[in-house]
Amino acid sequence: MKKLPALILLLTMSFIFFSCKKQMSPQIFRAFGTVCFINLYGDGDESAYTEIKTRLMKLDGKFNLHRERSEISLVNKGAKTGPVEVDEDFAIVLETALKTAEFTDGSFNPALGKLINLWGINSDNPHLPLVKDIEEARAHCDWRKIVFDKEKQTVFFEDKELSLDFGAIAKGYAADEIARICEERKIRYAMIDLGGNVLAFGSKPGRQKWQIGIKNPDEPRGDPIKVLSVDGCSVVTSGIYERFFMQNGRVYHHIIDGTTGFPAESGLKSVTIICNSSLAADALSTAFFVAGKGRAVSLKAEAEKIFNEKIKLVFVEEDSTVVSVD
Ligand code: ADP
Ligand code: MG
Repeated sequence: MKKLPALILLLTMSFIFFSCKKQMSPQIFRAFGTVCFINLYGDGDESAYTEIKTRLMKLDGKFNLHRERSEISLVNKGAKTGPVEVDEDFAIVLETALKTAEFTDGSFNPALGKLINLWGINSDNPHLPLVKDIEEARAHCDWRKIVFDKEKQTVFFEDKELSLDFGAIAKGYAADEIARICEERKIRYAMIDLGGNVLAFGSKPGRQKWQIGIKNPDEPRGDPIKVLSVDGCSVVTSGIYERFFMQNGRVYHHIIDGTTGFPAESGLKSVTIICNSSLAADALSTAFFVAGKGRAVSLKAEAEKIFNEKIKLVFVEEDSTVVSVD
């Protein structure tokens, strides 16, 4: 009979002990030219955030075209004269970029550096270039002239004017890397949001699903146009509203169609990819935005084969109609 009160006392004490354990609070970092919001759930020490921040900054440093001594800048300079050795992170991103370029026939194109630079898309001064300059730059954007030797982990450009830009894929890789750290550290669940490149990591307690909103392209700061209810996965959107400028009364956004040299006009305001790998989701969201709905839907099965996972799509069309394709 005495055992019961003792047991109740023990249970109460352990409840108090566990509920008093410090919950981690969300943190915000600036990387990849955007705001990165990370929320790790569960009890644990804050050193997970330190490790995540270090990794995030390291990757931002590697793929940052604004830094002269970043790995991508060094490759852009060196690979025109001979093969340049790259590290593991670079090799994974480049290989994924090339295979996405290949099967989307250049809708995703990691060799658009010269054009993107000409438009000043990722600079403080984006502007409409002269048509003759667009044509000149476009002639040096052939991803097939990137020679990647997987064995030796080297890159060589067969075109001396070619230049890489990983703006459409680097955040996806970074999000996967943060998820890997969460897994290693046995974090139960986490929200990893790198400027709209969302990775909902793990399962929430009970049967709760993650609720992830897709921005309304007409009012990105207002209510979402659609809310997805998902288990742990990546949700990545490419849209016209993320980065754009106005000139002569026209809007020019930041996703370029390499076949025209101009911002893609594919009848879409945004496309969202839902799948496990954030790297795949990031590459595919850009690719499918350029490809347009019809081609994207016909490429879906091939994308699933290449990335070896089920992929869902949500399109927001020009007239703001939402179309989901499971
Ligand atoms: P966001 O950067 O808003 O998440 P994306 O993932 O679609 O959107 O990436 C857009 C960026 O990728 C641009 O800022 C540019 O640096 C680069 N980019 C633009 N067009 C393409 C393209 N067709 N293929 C590959 N990269 C692109
Ligand atoms: Mg992308």
